[in-house]
Amino acid sequence: MLSVNQLRSSYGRIEVLHGVSLDISAGEIVVVIGANGAGKTTLLHCLSGVQPIQDGNIIFRGESFNTVPAYRRVKHGLAQVPEGRQIFTSLSVEENLRLGAYLYTDDKVDRDMEDAFNMFPILREKRNLPAGGLSGGQQQMLAIARALLSRPSCLLLDEPSMGLAPILVAQIFDVVKNLKSLDVTVLLVEQNAFGALSIADRGYVMETGHITLSGEAQALIVDPRIRSAYLGL
Ligand code: ATP
Repeated sequence: MLSVNQLRSSYGRIEVLHGVSLDISAGEIVVVIGANGAGKTTLLHCLSGVQPIQDGNIIFRGESFNTVPAYRRVKHGLAQVPEGRQIFTSLSVEENLRLGAYLYTDDKVDRDMEDAFNMFPILREKRNLPAGGLSGGQQQMLAIARALLSRPSCLLLDEPSMGLAPILVAQIFDVVKNLKSLDVTVLLVEQNAFGALSIADRGYVMETGHITLSGEAQALIVDPRIRSAYLGL
């Protein structure tokens, strides 16, 4: 589904991704864990096309994405749920969702909206209210639902658990796990290593712009290096 080879990216003259490679097969949930500032968000921005790359390759479903602009990547089925949700606070919940479907004008948009409301009933209840009034967990649900309205085959999720109470974190991870049943492939970046590895098939560890470890999620979760560095054990 997605293949990233030797990706390099910089802010000005400061390189922050130093040759990152990873692969994601269709139907997988793959997580990139790493500390603050490791380069996880930059990686997702490179994949979605909002951050330029200096070197390397991004291949999505067999096609080079290196020079494809961000809006076209969405059309090809790659959607990003940004860090901090980035919902449109003054618009209603429904308007936020409809913006996710901006590529489409067909009748299926209404059906997709119904699917989103069935998946997140609280959003149906609040569909006419300003999205800025939602709780953090509800805003995260809205951000995920909005991305699903673009009919992605692969979703890039940036720190969906950030700033949420533990019970909501568990709910959000459940939502991510259930994306599999919608045939959506997931690349998740997270600082919550335990929660993310618990629902993932495979994982990568990113440290200061390098991938330093990778493997099956269940193997990583018991790896002593991960346990001491990321799980506080
Ligand atoms: P976090 O969990 O804090 O979001 P991260 O792993 O996602 O961390 P990035 O946000 O990708 O890491 O940041 C990687 C490095 O790039 C950090 O050193 C950060 O300070 C730097 N950086 C990020 N965005 C910019 C920017 N717009 N301009 C300059 N430097 C940036």
